[in-house]
Amino acid sequence: MSPPRAPAEARLLDAWERGAAASAARRALLLLSLALPGAGAAALAAQPVGRRDRHLFRLRRALFGDALACIAGCPACGERLEFALSAGEVLEGSPPPADEPLRVARGGWEVEVRLPTTQDLLRVTEGGPAADRAGALLRRCVVSATRRGRPADPGALPAAVLEAVDEEMARADLGSQVRLSLACPACAHGWEAPFDIVAFLWRELDAWARRVTAEVHVLASRYGWSERQILSLGPRRRGRYLELVGA
Ligand SMILES: [Zn+2]
Repeated sequence: MSPPRAPAEARLLDAWERGAAASAARRALLLLSLALPGAGAAALAAQPVGRRDRHLFRLRRALFGDALACIAGCPACGERLEFALSAGEVLEGSPPPADEPLRVARGGWEVEVRLPTTQDLLRVTEGGPAADRAGALLRRCVVSATRRGRPADPGALPAAVLEAVDEEMARADLGSQVRLSLACPACAHGWEAPFDIVAFLWRELDAWARRVTAEVHVLASRYGWSERQILSLGPRRRGRYLELVGA
C-alpha cells in the first residue's frame, strides 16, 4: 500500500473542530476519515481496531514524520524518560489482522468471534452502563457459540471463556494493543506501557490547529484575507508573510 498523502490543512482543521468535544472513539473515526478520505462512515467504523490504528500510524507519519516523541515516568523511582517511537517500526511489528473469524474452544464451549471495531466500541461506551463494558464488547463480537455441540446463548459465556476470547483477539490483532517495553536509565526498572495512537495523534492535531489558527488570526488581522485564502497559501508562503509582518 502506498503511503497516504498528507490531507489538506482545511480538512485537518475541520476534523479538529468536529472532534473538540467528542469521545475517543469518535475522534478515532475523524482521524481515520483523514487517513482514508474515500471511505464512507460505515466502512470506517467497521475496521477492526488494530487495522484502524495501523492507518493512524501511517497518517501520523504523513503529517508529522516517523518519530513520535514520547515521555513516560518510571513507576519505581519517578525518573522522566524521553524517547522516540518509530511509526514504521510499530507497523512492521504488528502485521494486519486476518479477516476470518477466530475460533476459541474452552471448557466445552466453542466460540466463533470477530475482531472488535470502532462501531462496537461506540455501542458499548455510548449505549450502555459503564459496568462490564469489556464483557459487553466481547459478547457483541461473538458470531456463534455452542456448548457441548449445542447452540448456546453468547450472553451466558462464563468468565473463563471470555478471558480466552480476549487473549485470542489480542494475539490475532496485535496492532490493537501497542505496548512499549521500557527500561529506566536511573534505577534499571523495566516495565510495559500501553501506547494510544488516537490520544497521541489527537494531542498533536490540537497543538497544530492552535498554531495554525493563531497564524490565520495574525494574517487576517493584517491583510484582511479569509481563513480559506490564508490556508490556500500553504505553510511556506504563510511563514514568509508572517516574517514580513514581524509575527
Ligand atoms: Zn526508575
